[in-house]
Amino acid sequence: MSSVPDGKKLVRSPSGLRMLPENGAFNSPFSLDEPQWVPDKECPRCMQCDTKFDFIRRKHHCRRCGRCFCDKCCSKKVALPRMCFVDPVRQCAECSLVSQKEMEFYDKQLKVLLAGGTFVVTLGSSEKSETMTCRLSNNHRYLFLDGESHFEVELSRISSMQILTDGTSPGENDIHTYTSLLDSHYISEGGTSRASGMLLHYKPMGSQDAQQLRMEAADDKKVASLWLAAMHKAAKLLYEARDQ
Ligand SMILES: [Zn+2]
Ligand SMILES: [Zn+2]
Repeated sequence: MSSVPDGKKLVRSPSGLRMLPENGAFNSPFSLDEPQWVPDKECPRCMQCDTKFDFIRRKHHCRRCGRCFCDKCCSKKVALPRMCFVDPVRQCAECSLVSQKEMEFYDKQLKVLLAGGTFVVTLGSSEKSETMTCRLSNNHRYLFLDGESHFEVELSRISSMQILTDGTSPGENDIHTYTSLLDSHYISEGGTSRASGMLLHYKPMGSQDAQQLRMEAADDKKVASLWLAAMHKAAKLLYEARDQ
């Protein structure tokens, strides 16, 4: 088992091999639980094309939604990092589309978040601000902010997030608009306005009072803007998971 990274264990589930943290409390906030499989006796027919199952037409379960399909409707094997599968797993058409979109997050945005960006950070209503690098921790659970001081924000304790954008038409460079979390077209990478900052509310450990954190892009605006766009995408994944 020498190939297993620190603090992780390989687990064999009916759906395939999974690489999980030793301690469940350290699960990535982006991770999803495996679904319950629809019991065999409850699905005599493919839930997509209605083909009746028999000895030749065998049933297969989608690893993402747990529903039951014929081979034709559930033939795609797609990576599913949110359930920590080591290899691509069988998924229905609907789920494989979602998983493919999420792969983009894992391939691109997650790497940007781990690499970090530089921001001018203001805590609460303080007059003082500090230039800090902000990055996502390796287990995806915290934002680490490092400057003269250091503090961290646990993602699961963030209650709201707003992305601040720069207007890009001439003369509007100073105007900031508050864009709601799910209004994503404002900060697509090629969009008309660019993410320039972020306003977070979160409850620090052991406190019931929400704290405000304001981050504005420092010198390297391009890197900061990409980082904010990635954070926005991450927040969408987290909020979708909370809604389920
Ligand atoms: Zn089918
Ligand atoms: Zn599915």
